[in-house]
Amino acid sequence: MLVRLSKNLPDAQLKVVLALARELGYEAKPLGAQRELLELTGRGAPDHRSRFEDLAGVAGVIDAGEARERFQRAPGQPDTVVQVGAASFGGGHVAVIGGPCAVEDTGRLLEIARGVRDLGATVLRGGAYKPRTSPYSFQGTREQGLEALARARLETGLCVVTEVLDPRDVAAVAEVADLLQIGSRNMANSPLLQEVGRQRKPVLLKRGFSATLREFCLAAEYVLAEGNPNVILCERGIRGFDPSTRNVLDVGAVAALKRLTHLPVIVDPSHAAGRADLVRALARAGIAAGADGVMVDVHTAPAEAHCDGHQAISLEEFARIVSDVRALAALDGRQVASLTEIPR
Ligand code: PEP
Ligand code: MN
Repeated sequence: MLVRLSKNLPDAQLKVVLALARELGYEAKPLGAQRELLELTGRGAPDHRSRFEDLAGVAGVIDAGEARERFQRAPGQPDTVVQVGAASFGGGHVAVIGGPCAVEDTGRLLEIARGVRDLGATVLRGGAYKPRTSPYSFQGTREQGLEALARARLETGLCVVTEVLDPRDVAAVAEVADLLQIGSRNMANSPLLQEVGRQRKPVLLKRGFSATLREFCLAAEYVLAEGNPNVILCERGIRGFDPSTRNVLDVGAVAALKRLTHLPVIVDPSHAAGRADLVRALARAGIAAGADGVMVDVHTAPAEAHCDGHQAISLEEFARIVSDVRALAALDGRQVASLTEIPR
């Protein structure tokens, strides 16, 4: 590990840094003309980087080396593949998730679920607990929504991803969900991340709308550190200054994350665009940048949707997106699984 020390470091602070190095079993060697660097040799562990960064005497960790965090890709390390039923994410496998923003009634959910399955989705999305900006907006159909998802899962063979908002609901949501979603607003909710880390279902972690990639990856680390290795990262757009789109889909982040971490990365072009007419273009951009999947809001009657109707696409548009995803994935030899034969 290579640590940069703070400028004009008082002896007392240097002592604290050296004491921590000793405590963690490192041999420390000062480097550089001003002895501003400290090379640490020893057995690294995922918690060591943050331990050093916490100290006033440390300006930064230049290279964590063997003390890398769990999310970080080691040199030459292959992708982690996260399996959700028939869907695989990462390692050359691309999957498509579709469904309504929120679960409304069972009939509507079934109609959308059958539609997306027949067109190539392997996972059905739908929020039963909705994290809304306003406390007066539709908050989801909660337990009833979970029941509807369980029925759609049974009848279509699709796996289900749905959001969990509260650590106390994790067990109940995990009974129905194949993949537990942590939303953008909860990306940094460490008790919730730890709770989903302590159970066995894979986790879909959405990027906070103003989170740096390191903050995003460290949120995933909370889940990994509790023993759950199956985390999928989702880029869903960050805050921009231009109201033309709801958020700014950070495609650079997708490409950067694929290098930084071995975890699969998907994009949500719906919450990035906030408008149906741009979803297809952003889905294409995400896959082209290396995303291992897309998650899109689909509705058979967007005008009647209880939430995010303006960004919901029709089944016809969904078919076009699936076809684009297949074509773009094929360009670099990647596979897209489906539950049915996809009509061309
Ligand atoms: C969602 O996917 O339903 C959602 C609320 O998205 P986000 O957390 O990205 O806003
Ligand atoms: Mn939504």
